[in-house]
Parts: sequence; structure tokens; C-alpha cells
Amino acid sequence: MKLGAHISAAGGLFKTYARAKEAACETMMVFTKSNRQWKAKPIADEDVEKYKTAQAAHEEITSVAVHASYLINMASPKDDLWEKSVQALKVEVERAAVYGIPLLVFHPGSHVKSGEEAGMDRIATGLRRLLKETAVTAPDTLICLETMAGQGTNLGSTFEQLAYMIDQAGADERLGVCFDTCHVFASGYDIRSADAYEDTMAQFDGIIGLDRLKFFHFNDSKFELGKRKDRHAHIGEGFIGLEGFANFVNDSRWENHAAHMETPKIKELEDGTTIEMDIVNLATLRGLIDVEGG
Ligand code: ZN
Ligand code: MN
Ligand code: MN
Repeated sequence: MKLGAHISAAGGLFKTYARAKEAACETMMVFTKSNRQWKAKPIADEDVEKYKTAQAAHEEITSVAVHASYLINMASPKDDLWEKSVQALKVEVERAAVYGIPLLVFHPGSHVKSGEEAGMDRIATGLRRLLKETAVTAPDTLICLETMAGQGTNLGSTFEQLAYMIDQAGADERLGVCFDTCHVFASGYDIRSADAYEDTMAQFDGIIGLDRLKFFHFNDSKFELGKRKDRHAHIGEGFIGLEGFANFVNDSRWENHAAHMETPKIKELEDGTTIEMDIVNLATLRGLIDVEGG
């Protein structure tokens, strides 16, 4: 498995490579634009050149992923916000393609009390249009729905919902799922013991199909199983625990898959000193390989 983290693109996307190397990442996830703004500065040829140069200088870092903006809500019952969201996701997909980034993840959306099915149908309609409109501009970018924790009216917290949205969107081969360990656990799927993990994966396979699982977010959870709370903890410091992560890193089915942590970057100690946590969390994950599981 390739292990890495979400890396800051402050100052230019090309800067992510040096930062990822510093944190001992083999893979990384990035934003290609500000995640809290709708607007995106157009990508200049120079931006792509610098990115490609940095990429060539860091061959150890492969399988990059993009996380789309948090503002996008493809389930919105409001026509103007829905339209804006479809457009914005299209921009995200095309920007990923310009940089040659093969994976993109987005939060399916929130139905805002319009009802689960209505919300999922809006998402599926938006995805159908998006797939059509990016068939030529971004044919190789996989568009992944993230497994969600089930907070509020967020959709995508059950495997059934994810399967429904993918099916309604036409089951296109460019559609996938990004499996977030914290969210799945918060939504009530146990992954802590080897048996619970196998059972959860068997459910995923039966309902969605494991071939749809394109990459992972590795976050421990600050809340207990099924609490529907999206709060990330450092690896091994939450309720999932080390045995849970050992199940993933030792599963040969994910040998070539990427996993990105979205855990806090810094830990402050009582004496006021700080620790860079990505490097610590990655060492923890690597320490689990071949120790348990199979
Ligand atoms: Zn996310
Ligand atoms: Mn995530
Ligand atoms: Mn989260």
C-alpha cells in the first residue's frame, strides 16, 4: 500500500512534492484551488510545467489525488446552488486532468431536508452531466464519492446510498469510492478486529463492489463506533485503534492502493513544543505492516 497525507499547496501546487517528501509520503492528496472558495484562478502553462518538473524530481511519490472543494453540494434542492456545484465539480475534474492527476474525491452532498432519495437523485443527475461533459477533457480522471460519517443530512454514509448514487449515475467506469476509515466507522461499520473488518469489506463488496474502491482516507476517530461524528484523531489515538489500521495495511487487495491521512498536522505538548505529526502517523502505519493480519 502507498501511504501518505493531505499536503498543503500553499504557494503553488508544485510545492506539494517537496512537502510530501519531507513528511515521508509515498502518495499525497491536494487541493488544486482554494477549498473554501468557488472561484479558481486559471491554470497557467507555467503552473503545469513547474508541477511536472517537481513530479519528475520526486519519483517516489506516485498516485496523487485531488480533494474537491467543500462548498460543492450536488444534492442541493436549490437550483442555483446545484448548478453552481455541478459547474464547480466539473472545474475540479478538469483541473485534475490538466495536471495529470488520476483521482478526485468529493463529498456527495447534503439533502438539506429535501429527503434522501431526492438528494441522491440530484447528485446522480449532476454526475451524469459531469461524466458526459468531461468525457473528452478528463477521460482518465476517476471521480470518487467519499464515504461520509452521516452528520446532519449528509448523503453517502451507507454503502447502499453510495451504490444507489453510482447506479443512478449510470454506473460509469469513471465513478469510484474513496473509503474514509473515520467516516465509515462513525457511520457504524466496525473495522477494529480482523473479523469485523472482513465483514465490513464483504458488505462493501456485496453492495458496491470492491472494484469501485479506488483509494482510502486513513483517519482514526475521536468518537465511538456509530456516533455519526466526523472528528479525526491521530492513527492509534482514537477509537479505531492500531489493530483496525493493521487490517488495511496488510490486506493484499490494497497493495497498489493509496491511503491519505487527514489528521491534524501538529501536536502541541504541555511544555509548548510542537511535533510534526504526519511523519509520526506514517511511521505508526508502516510499523503495522506484517505485524498483524495477513
Ligand atoms: Zn473529504
Ligand atoms: Mn476524508
Ligand atoms: Mn472527515
